[in-house]
Amino acid sequence: MKRIVVIGAGQAGASLVAKLRGLGFAGEITLIGAEPVPPYQRPPLSKAYLLGEMALERLFLRPESFYADHGIDLRLGQRVTAIDRAARTVALGDDVLPYDALALTTGSVPRRLPALIGGDLRGVHLVRDLADVDAMGPRFQTGAKAIIVGGGYIGLEAAAVAAKKGLEVTVLEMAPRILQRVAAPETSDAIRALHQAHGVTILEATGLERIEGATRVEGVSLSDGRRLEADFVIAGIGILPDTALAEATGLTLENGIRTDTQGRTSDPHIWAAGDCASFPWRGELLRLESVQNAIDQAELVAENMLGAGKDYAPVPWFWSDQYDLKLQIAGLNTGYDRVIVRTGDARSHWYFAGEKFLAVDALNDPRAFMVGKRLLEQGKSPDPVLLADTATDLKQLLKA
Ligand code: NAP
Repeated sequence: MKRIVVIGAGQAGASLVAKLRGLGFAGEITLIGAEPVPPYQRPPLSKAYLLGEMALERLFLRPESFYADHGIDLRLGQRVTAIDRAARTVALGDDVLPYDALALTTGSVPRRLPALIGGDLRGVHLVRDLADVDAMGPRFQTGAKAIIVGGGYIGLEAAAVAAKKGLEVTVLEMAPRILQRVAAPETSDAIRALHQAHGVTILEATGLERIEGATRVEGVSLSDGRRLEADFVIAGIGILPDTALAEATGLTLENGIRTDTQGRTSDPHIWAAGDCASFPWRGELLRLESVQNAIDQAELVAENMLGAGKDYAPVPWFWSDQYDLKLQIAGLNTGYDRVIVRTGDARSHWYFAGEKFLAVDALNDPRAFMVGKRLLEQGKSPDPVLLADTATDLKQLLKA
């Protein structure tokens, strides 16, 4: 194999090319990204960077010189317009780049509020890329009224930053509770209370009817008939896998670009990793929207492109920082039927399906996170009775 092309210069694409060189691949590598800046970390965008506590350079995954130093042709501010699978080429403006192996690390695109309800007014912001956050930063002025649509991690992390900066913040969540898609009621309750203690208004089971204003945001009207004034709106209403190129070239899609356990798509010369890829996992097709997945899956694809033949079997984990809370999550709670709560100095919520341990939410409790993650890695389920007893030393559970 001589030429590898990677489309998408986010966390997954950057991890993939670095791993290829780390493994000793000496052929040509081209990494193509639509944004004008070198690959950067996304998690701080809705946290430290938005808060103004992190400089731009610290966001970059590697200094820009890294790519040239390692013989990686980094093409920034450019978009691939088509993939020709028969010829094994990609079209990039007037250029045609040949490949022996191609990786799609195209990530995801944020859902937008429809223009029909005012989603295109000035003052409606997304939190997905650097340009989005740079555009909204100046609006974070003490006393400004921010309406945040969506009570997922994006919305809640943005709400925490806004509250810290002295804005008047309201979060609208259509579902009966915040974090409904990803967490148990116990976790939603703890996080709701935290925001309320910081003066944030959380309106659940409340949809956005429309955003009002002639050319720019002036207010919002809600599904319950209320009207709220607003200086700006942030939409954190979920993301969709970016499958446009894959679809146009006829790859199999199923909740993202479908891959096998090794990261290969329905075309054996094309691989996919990160937010855009769905892969077989414990009898289902899973797509993970997390930075850990972007790194691990991309590195595995790099190995497999060079013939390692390894299967991807992650123990997923996530984290969120809001105010002084560090929420760490290990595992996936899908299908849980009960939650065991441990409280004390810290708090953790343990998800079970029958006797089977699925996941843990650790709230300022790094030890619970570490133990939960290890148990999942070892395929062990702790005894729920022992777990519920706060006298039990969590580390004991690893020895059982
Ligand atoms: P998300 O987790 O899908 O949350 C979006 C929320 O907005 C959902 O609760 C959704 O409710 C709600 N919603 C949708 N349309 C709405 C409307 N018109 N009015 C009111 N509420 C509405 O997505 P996200 O928070 O935008 O985050 C995007 C991705 O980035 C996610 O995968 C997230 O996990 C990830 N992320 C992770 C972190 C972290 O790990 N710390 C931080 C930021 C982002 P329904 O579920 O009922 O549709």
